Amino acid sequence: MEKQAYLDFVSKHTEKILEVERYIWEHPESGFKEWNTSAYLAKIFEEAGYTLTYAGNIPGFYTDIDTGKPGPKILILGELDALVAPTHPEAWNGCAHACGHNAQCAGLVGIALALKEPGALDGLCGSIRLMAVPAEELIEIGFRNSLRDQGIIHYLGGKVEFMYRGYMDGCDISFMYHTGIREKGTFACSRGANGCMAKDIVYKGQASHAGGSPQKGINALYAATLGLQAINSLRETFVDDDHIRVHPIMEANGSAVNIIPAKATVCTFVRGATMDSIIAANKKVNRALAAGALAMGAQVEISDRPGYAPLINAPGLMEVAKECMIAVAGEDEVMFNDNWSTGSTDMGDLSAVMPSMHPHAAGAAGTSHGDDYRIVDPIKACVMSAQAQVLMVVELLKNDAARAKHVIETFQPVYPSKEAYFEAVNQLMADKGLVTYTESGAEISY
Ligand SMILES: [Zn+2]
Ligand SMILES: [Zn+2]
Repeated sequence: MEKQAYLDFVSKHTEKILEVERYIWEHPESGFKEWNTSAYLAKIFEEAGYTLTYAGNIPGFYTDIDTGKPGPKILILGELDALVAPTHPEAWNGCAHACGHNAQCAGLVGIALALKEPGALDGLCGSIRLMAVPAEELIEIGFRNSLRDQGIIHYLGGKVEFMYRGYMDGCDISFMYHTGIREKGTFACSRGANGCMAKDIVYKGQASHAGGSPQKGINALYAATLGLQAINSLRETFVDDDHIRVHPIMEANGSAVNIIPAKATVCTFVRGATMDSIIAANKKVNRALAAGALAMGAQVEISDRPGYAPLINAPGLMEVAKECMIAVAGEDEVMFNDNWSTGSTDMGDLSAVMPSMHPHAAGAAGTSHGDDYRIVDPIKACVMSAQAQVLMVVELLKNDAARAKHVIETFQPVYPSKEAYFEAVNQLMADKGLVTYTESGAEISY
């Protein structure tokens, strides 16, 4: 079948795709709370004739499309979650789709409807798994840790959790198209992106009368600010190529202005280009946090959680994608570069174990995660994005899946298996106090 036929399979559903984009924009939900979004999409999939496997106790689902012939399994994902962004002018319940995941979901619907068109699977082998996945944005760490404590989730990111549950077992190649802000070009792809880990930090001091008897208190807020100052003083020791990012926020500090603060909480990520550089930078950050506590005689407790592995876009898959993007938008509209992004995504975790790719489709404007973020060109963000992804499926699975097999054979995984990957990221899991006071002084563990 000619490429144009597959493009038409998507574009005939343009009205529905754009309707989905608007609906999800208007009903944003943050990670692991996307119940309405998940149900809304599930209904569309089921009405189109798909049988879904639901995650059940968290939002999200997947479905398999079998060509009837053996071959590789291609995993295509769409992210359900919005950001907590209460100052966004179009925020709803304090959330907004300031990262454009609503457009990804609309694109996923476009792919699903196109692959149901008569003849869409002719000449293909293997299978396709379409997955609506929750909780890409690594936020509301306290809430996610509470889900962990209840045994509902094991990992804080939706894709990592789905991988842990086995929902990606048997998948050979994965990709998704993220919405991007571009003045020029419809499609873009960089070399990869930073990984990250999440840290919840609690400084504990002692309350006392802030005016009458401050000498009886231990100021947890001061300890925290000293810890942050120490982190800032370390920044010039971070090696450029490691792309380390540490960006703390203070969440709650003190109870009343006339009481020395007994508690101060901080949350941060440590991001970096490799797992090793993240682990090394995290040790320095812990040492800095301990220094703040030590100066004041306070305690500091950390909860470290694995975030996302660095994203490494698979070169073999990028070749296929580039051809398909050009077929959709033309050569001048496709921009691949050697840049490294310093944000993080849990597509990184997939890219550590299978050939994966996380390019961008234009169509958004404003600032990523900002209050001026909006979708201005849903045709690019949703329809053309879906077209390029459908073409990738065809290119990978036609001719006895020759190109998919080539992508798989030439792939060099960071970890040889899912188990090895989890073993590595589990090293980032820690719940401990950093300072212990002793008779002779103090011991620091970092
Ligand atoms: Zn985002
Ligand atoms: Zn995003």
